Amino acid sequence: MSQARPDTRSAFLAACAEAIGAQHVLTDAHDTAPYVADWRKRYQGAACAVLCPADTAGVAAVVKLAHAHRVALVPQGGNTGLAGGATPDASGEQAVLSLRRLNRVREIDAHNNTITAEAGVILAEVQARAADAGRLFPLSLAAEGSCTLGGNLSTNAGGTAVLRYGNTRELCLGLEVVTPQGEVWDGLRGLRKDNTGYDLRDLFIGAEGTLGVITAAVMKLHPQPAARVTALAALGSAHAALDFLALAQRYAGPLLTGFELMSDFCMQLVGRHFPQLRYPFQTRHAQVVLLELSDNESEEHARALFERLMEAALDEGLVEDAVVAESLAQSQAFWHIREHIPLAQAQEGLNVKHDIGVPISRIGHFIEETDAGIARAVPGARMVTFGHLGDGNLHYNVQAPEGGDPKRFLAENEKTLNRIVYDSVHRHRGTISAEHGLGQLKVEEAAHYKSAVELKLMHAIKAALDPLNLMNPGKVLR
Ligand SMILES: Cc1cc2nc3c(=O)[nH]c(=O)nc-3n(C[C@H](O)[C@H](O)[C@H](O)COP(=O)(O)OP(=O)(O)OC[C@H]3O[C@@H](n4cnc5c(N)ncnc54)[C@H](O)[C@@H]3O)c2cc1C
Repeated sequence: MSQARPDTRSAFLAACAEAIGAQHVLTDAHDTAPYVADWRKRYQGAACAVLCPADTAGVAAVVKLAHAHRVALVPQGGNTGLAGGATPDASGEQAVLSLRRLNRVREIDAHNNTITAEAGVILAEVQARAADAGRLFPLSLAAEGSCTLGGNLSTNAGGTAVLRYGNTRELCLGLEVVTPQGEVWDGLRGLRKDNTGYDLRDLFIGAEGTLGVITAAVMKLHPQPAARVTALAALGSAHAALDFLALAQRYAGPLLTGFELMSDFCMQLVGRHFPQLRYPFQTRHAQVVLLELSDNESEEHARALFERLMEAALDEGLVEDAVVAESLAQSQAFWHIREHIPLAQAQEGLNVKHDIGVPISRIGHFIEETDAGIARAVPGARMVTFGHLGDGNLHYNVQAPEGGDPKRFLAENEKTLNRIVYDSVHRHRGTISAEHGLGQLKVEEAAHYKSAVELKLMHAIKAALDPLNLMNPGKVLR
């Protein structure tokens, strides 16, 4: 990438100030600080400015200027990404392009079951506006109070309801995008069917800001379910959890919205660091599954279905114990246990995180084989295994041995652990990133595991759309 000379950089910033207002061009270190480090504080970058346009025209103006002055842009939404994708490098040459001021819901079309919203609208706001219109926007994740729709699209976020509703890609019908040259592509079409050539929309989804800037989207809405019922089931192994998933799908079909696996060590960590979140069973069990049904009929219908399912699972010896939430508060308490696992893990100390996906049928074998490989290489390492079993997506994290120094553990073992885990993922024809993207965290690993043909095609797309490599350079592709 060609870099801007200091004189052209100041000319660029002056032109940006003219285009979007000087108060929306942040250059003071104090003002830019929240934008140049990632959520996990793993990456600390620097930026020549943080640019905050208010609308699509403002984004187009800024991108055009960046193109003319050869300044690289790092798009950013809520900055909750977990792969360092929204963090600029340390050179101070790049500018962060914040989309947060593009925060309008442009239209809700109840009959078409769509919402058209700008990239900077916070996910919780999209959900709330859909609910006001009597509809459900089903994308849901723990960062929903601060992540943005544009960030969700650019990372193709997953979350807790993928099993039923799909990930962000499946929820999107149309996009508005500013190209790396500053042109606006208006693809805001709320169509379920459109077979007119290459699918540009899908190209920009999950591209992590490397191909253009998403400024607005048409998203699918769904009917609000009449009731949601949550349960916890205790099981003896991950293999049993897989059989239980098949049984649950047979009984509940598309009503099954969530199916989350939590190993006993995850439950112990939550108990240790958040004792107010009560362990729900009398005895310990190797695995706990959280299930949720979203029922279009009634709560009674959902409960009756759950009862039949649990009876069958107990009869078949799949489930060792089960508890169905009696109230909304209890249901929330169950979800709190699940959501507190990453927090409990953080309290326990630094750890090596993996966000992997394998075919659902391979999960039991993957866990067995990889656990054994890690135990051989790093005796005493503690596995924190949890995640969206119904989507074949596990957070397969590794904690230092009890009493060990987490910092030293990370420095000495991270590379080895990554290799063991990703080699195993590769053997099972899985992916090294099921939810969080590649960002800058996994660029090297992606280059290691993707085939030469796949990488060549990806580089060809990048070169065709962004030949100057000004859109989020260094992310996704090296
Ligand atoms: C507590 C917590 C829980 C989480 N749980 C989940 C989960 O369950 N599932 C999941 O998938 N993720 C999860 N995440 C990760 C994160 O929330 C998602 O990746 C989210 O979609 C990022 O949105 P954001 O607005 O914060 O994007 P950012 O972090 O700002 O950006 C992410 C990437 O998208 C690019 N980008 C952002 N906006 C645009 C735009 N408008 N146009 C082009 N590129 C853009 C950035 O350059 C960057 O590469 C979690 C994060 C946290 C902190």
